[in-house]
Amino acid sequence: MWTSALAPLHRHAAYRRRLCVECQQVPPAAGMPRCYPCHAAYTGTRLTPSQAHAARIRAMTGPRPSVEVRALAYYLERFIAVVSEARV
Ligand SMILES: [Zn+2]
Repeated sequence: MWTSALAPLHRHAAYRRRLCVECQQVPPAAGMPRCYPCHAAYTGTRLTPSQAHAARIRAMTGPRPSVEVRALAYYLERFIAVVSEARV
């Protein structure tokens, strides 16, 4: 996962900077203050496959990726999934 060199923010400051209020490493999921993995831990639920996919992309790109970096992460994640399925 992407790690920040900055000190942890206050939860409200993280929210205003459009970061997950728990891990403060990636943007939150749409309509929520937390990213999908933190939301799943908070609620005690499992991630759906699409949520896990989105979480892996966010973990690769960090908080404010450009469109190009986000697109590259999307295809890398798909490539990793295909290679992982082929290995099994
Ligand atoms: Zn989080």
